[in-house]
Amino acid sequence: IVRVSRVHKSFKMGAVSLEALKGVDLEIQAGHYISIMGPSGSGKSTLFNMIGGLDKPTSGKVFIDDIDIAQLDAYELAWLRCRKIGYIFQTFNLIPVMTALENVTLPMIFAGFGSEEAVAKGMELLSLVGLGDRFQHKPSELSGGQQQRVAVARSMANDPAIILADEPTGNLDLSTGEEIIALLKRLSAEKRVTVISATHDFKMLNVSDQVIWIRDGKVEKVEDREDLSISLGQIEDKQL
Ligand code: ATP
Ligand code: MG
Repeated sequence: IVRVSRVHKSFKMGAVSLEALKGVDLEIQAGHYISIMGPSGSGKSTLFNMIGGLDKPTSGKVFIDDIDIAQLDAYELAWLRCRKIGYIFQTFNLIPVMTALENVTLPMIFAGFGSEEAVAKGMELLSLVGLGDRFQHKPSELSGGQQQRVAVARSMANDPAIILADEPTGNLDLSTGEEIIALLKRLSAEKRVTVISATHDFKMLNVSDQVIWIRDGKVEKVEDREDLSISLGQIEDKQL
């Protein structure tokens, strides 16, 4: 469903140029739950921005369903971002003046759904994430975990094929983080969504079909579920 081919990304900071991605190749199968692991600064968020069409590679290509997203016009790219991909961020990125329900319905309104339909679907999604009774709360009236659950509901608003989650548990305590991971896993299984999640959270490995290890702008290794037990063993050895 996602193919990344020889992607390089450089950022120019005045006279210096910093290469955040140094030739990344990836292939992600539909319906899989993928974790992207790697040290801070290794290029995970940059890679996400490329896959999500939020920024352009300096060279190389990103294909979604075999379509080179660089070839899309502005309208098609907006469609991709609104309908095909759902986004979840570390800092939740909810709109503070809007209620939980309004935050969840907004992408549907953008997509052209009528407000009645959007509200019905928004309530359904909020119930799905266990916040059916909090729909009138604003983000400031919700706990961090609840805010992230609203963000998860919002990411599902337009039935995306792919959810990109950039450190979705990064700002949550351990048990709340586990809840969010379980929720994402359940949604990916029930709705057959491809979840791609950047994380430092080793708990995420337990639910992943595949783990992509990134280091210094390159893919270090890709491990399928079966290989993971070995890594987990190594991690325990290292007492991380
Ligand atoms: P973390 O785990 O801390 O979120 P990350 O793996 O997501 O790290 P990135 O945010 O992708 O790392 O950053 C990779 C490198 O690119 C870093 O050295 C960062 O400073 C640089 N970088 C990222 N975005 C920009 C930008 N817009 N302008 C300049 N440099 C950038
Ligand atoms: Mg990041």
